Amino acid sequence: MSLLKEMLDYNKLFVEEEKYRDYETTKYPNKRMVILTCMDTRLVELLPKALNVKNGDVKIVKTAGALVSHPFGSIMRSILVALYQLKADEVLVVGHHDCGMSGMSATSMMENMKERGISNETFDTLSYSGIDVEKWLSGFNKVEDSVAHSVNMIKNHPLMPEVPVHGLVIDPSTGKLDVVVEGY
Ligand SMILES: [Zn+2]
Repeated sequence: MSLLKEMLDYNKLFVEEEKYRDYETTKYPNKRMVILTCMDTRLVELLPKALNVKNGDVKIVKTAGALVSHPFGSIMRSILVALYQLKADEVLVVGHHDCGMSGMSATSMMENMKERGISNETFDTLSYSGIDVEKWLSGFNKVEDSVAHSVNMIKNHPLMPEVPVHGLVIDPSTGKLDVVVEGY
């Protein structure tokens, strides 16, 4: 059975048995916070549990490495939407140890792309168009620095309202949080 089919079969029962009733809430966050964190599998349940966050409590934006790589990209837009339209009034950036984006080499990812059929010409075309693929795919060296960088990007964005922006690092095995930037 395909993974999708398995999920859809489960979903049918989920709805029929009204399991959604445990999760009923509104689109406005009870804790009035928007969290930017990594897409890491270990954080799917661990991060909300470690922060005592339940369905309806916060907005969560996820991206590889919890990085804000472009001031006018969709990550920054999501944060602004949460702050201006959805009643969040604090921002929390949560990076984590042992992140896939930590020490990630763009070169090895580009090699993988080539092995899977992306041609050299494609990379050349992108390069001629002014797109620095290598820079775009690059990760970070130290998670604390990367979290501080994301906090700064958010904090200094020209469209940001006056709200606290915090930066934390989580241990993906124990859930322990360390503060990198306290925004108050
Ligand atoms: Zn990660």
